[in-house]
Amino acid sequence: MNKNPIEIIMKAEETNNLEKEEIVILLQSDEHNDELFKTADRIRKKNVGDEVHLRGLIEFSNICKQNCLYCGLRRDNENIQRYRLEPETIIEFAQKAVSYGFKTVVLQSGEDSYFSVDRMTHIIKEIKALGIAITLSIGEKTKEEYKAYKEAGADRYLVRIETSDRELYEKMDPGMDFENRLKCLEYLKEFGYEVGTGCLIGLPGQSLESLANDILFFKKINADMIGIGPFIPNHDTPLKDADGGSFELALKVMAITRLVLPDINIPATTAMETINPNGRVIALQSGANVVMPNVTEGEFRKMYALYPGKICVGDSPVKCKSCITDKIEDIGRTISQDQGFRKKKSCNCSGGCCKNS
Ligand code: SAH
Ligand code: SF4
Repeated sequence: MNKNPIEIIMKAEETNNLEKEEIVILLQSDEHNDELFKTADRIRKKNVGDEVHLRGLIEFSNICKQNCLYCGLRRDNENIQRYRLEPETIIEFAQKAVSYGFKTVVLQSGEDSYFSVDRMTHIIKEIKALGIAITLSIGEKTKEEYKAYKEAGADRYLVRIETSDRELYEKMDPGMDFENRLKCLEYLKEFGYEVGTGCLIGLPGQSLESLANDILFFKKINADMIGIGPFIPNHDTPLKDADGGSFELALKVMAITRLVLPDINIPATTAMETINPNGRVIALQSGANVVMPNVTEGEFRKMYALYPGKICVGDSPVKCKSCITDKIEDIGRTISQDQGFRKKKSCNCSGGCCKNS
């Protein structure tokens, strides 16, 4: 095992493999952050190129039956005005996204039971007929539901593990079962979705070891997409007085994820930009290759208040797309014109985890 951060980074570039202790060493010291970010950027360029994939995010309901301590959509939050879009409105927003040039939409919501299998499959089929890829981010569902949505045409599914620490998970997500979260990810893989997961950085009680385990977990399940975001305390939740995560640490976890999973899709997350005004561009230069601009129209994006200070709540989809496009082109990158599926490349790792391409 290496103890020298520079050697650890070099080893990761060569092998795409790191031990837990090595990841902890990288997370502990900020002295070699520049080298870490530059290496992640190089690995990104080599494996997934300069194209940035845009996914249009439709936040279609903020009604949620779950009660995650960190989240503003939690069912016990009475200070939030709830909304849900009708299926026809969701389809209309997707049509608009297509007209703005998006090749993928992400349908995200709280766990809202109004969206039955029948309603969801109708929405998916109608959107699929527009010729774009569909990502779902609607939480924990049954195996049958995941199957039905895949058969209806969904391509990808995002469900963050939030933390791979079982005890912390069950504390942060009361009433939810860590085993079930794992099962969800398993079912999604089994049905052939591109599977996205990820974690929150800076949850109360979360250690650097725990973050190292998160990264190794992403590697172990060979996730196709990893979204990393700082936890941002929400004044309408039980964690209102918590410290929250730092931008630097979130960026480091993201960059190390790129070192060990060189060919996956990694978004520069909205939460990163919320705590750093240039967060997405910095993330794109430290390993990320995806951005998810909001294409929810009108007042709803303000009401989808996972955390405070969310960027662009007063902007239109067209404005968001042109704003991020300019930023991407300013750093010499291009906007992808394809649907942005993971282009699997075999890596050099000894575990064989990435050799299934
Ligand atoms: N209900 C679905 C999707 C919506 S929540 C689900 O839970 O999977 C999407 C993501 O928002 C969550 O995975 C969580 O990581 C993030 N999130 C929630 N509250 C947050 C906060 N206070 N700060 C940062 N991210 C938060
Ligand atoms: Fe609901 Fe998702 Fe928020 Fe948890 S994180 S309360 S499941 S919207």
